[in-house]
Amino acid sequence: MSKSYLDSTPDENGYFGKFGGSFIPPMLEAPFEEIKKAYKELKKSPAFIEELKYVRKHYQGRPTPISFAKNLTNLCGGAKIYLKREDLNHTGAHKLNHCMAEVILAKHLGKKKVIAETGAGQHGVALATAAAYFGLECEIHMGEVDIIKEHPNVVRMKILGAKVVPATHGLKTLKEAVDSAFEKYIETYEDTLYCIGSVVGPHPFPLMVRDFQSIVGHESKEQFLEHESKAPDAVVACVGGGSNAMGIFAGFIDDKDVELHSVEPMGRGDKLGDHAASLTYGEEGVMHGFNSIMLKDADGEPAPVYSIGSGIDYPSVGPEHAHLKEIGRTIVGLCNDEEAVDAFYKLSQLEGIIPALETAHAIAYAMKLAKTLSKDKTILVNLSGRGDKDIDFVVDNHPIPNAKF
Ligand SMILES: *Cc1c(COP(=O)(O)O)cnc(C)c1O
Repeated sequence: MSKSYLDSTPDENGYFGKFGGSFIPPMLEAPFEEIKKAYKELKKSPAFIEELKYVRKHYQGRPTPISFAKNLTNLCGGAKIYLKREDLNHTGAHKLNHCMAEVILAKHLGKKKVIAETGAGQHGVALATAAAYFGLECEIHMGEVDIIKEHPNVVRMKILGAKVVPATHGLKTLKEAVDSAFEKYIETYEDTLYCIGSVVGPHPFPLMVRDFQSIVGHESKEQFLEHESKAPDAVVACVGGGSNAMGIFAGFIDDKDVELHSVEPMGRGDKLGDHAASLTYGEEGVMHGFNSIMLKDADGEPAPVYSIGSGIDYPSVGPEHAHLKEIGRTIVGLCNDEEAVDAFYKLSQLEGIIPALETAHAIAYAMKLAKTLSKDKTILVNLSGRGDKDIDFVVDNHPIPNAKF
């Protein structure tokens, strides 16, 4: 039997086709070798597998359910829309799936502290939570703009005992937060593990984070059969770095009949600086230690990016997404700010679920897709997180619609 996609990709050096790899300063080569070796061991360790299973079931609240979005489906009048409820995972998003595992890895490596970047604050909150649970120190770097926009998550991180460090250069959003956290890590790697928040960064992070998130896809594959006795026709997820998408795609990637749709943020328009649609408009390049498809400015530097969803506002994308697009296994779609806000309110008022603004991009796209498909087709959307963090920002800028849809 031929090896499954997940077992054969990436290769030994962390390449997904030509994308991925590891482009790091020489002094980080030894610590990254150590991380690779430790992960190889842990991956096969029954004790690690058991510990992860235990925390997922008894602390995180897994498995998360799949819900049928009946009213949203009726509104669209086409394919049935189902939601994988990662908003019900402890801390309200899929991020805890990789954070718990990364902190176990940090403990295994004998580290005292974990450090990371955060965009919307979801990864920061999840990592601060995991660090509290396992008794490690936690430091989170966050752009000054996002600190204001995502205020509730900043307070949550501090209550959980984490130190929040503002990134004050450039656009003061996610890319600058990564720069800032990486700089600090280079000074402190001896007692610290950098816990990357998505399927990005140098090898082995895109592989590890995908593996840790694949629980979403594996659960979904089984649970969907309960609803429909067959696999979904399409799986939809929003893509920033791409971890929630890779998580749910992992359950269906070997099933060629299931279409995989990655949804990128179109922001406020197609001009460079107005969106963060890296896969759609980007070109090959190295940033933050890995080769992928990225948005560049006229000088070849990472371009400024924008999206209403702070967690998907990033000028590059996980290398596996670049690869899957290139080999034609995924379909890359778009959703702008306005469509995302519309979906945010529709899901809230029709289904009683307030989604994160990032997630709202996947919902809006699934609504468009549903309308093009017949009623016997099914779409599974990864509802990557809940929108509590976004409510003040949304109502202040986009009044609550009072029309019943
Ligand atoms: C962080 C985040 C995202 C984007 O990150 P990916 O790595 O692309 O999944 C999407 N949705 C929510 C709710 C998030 O918190």
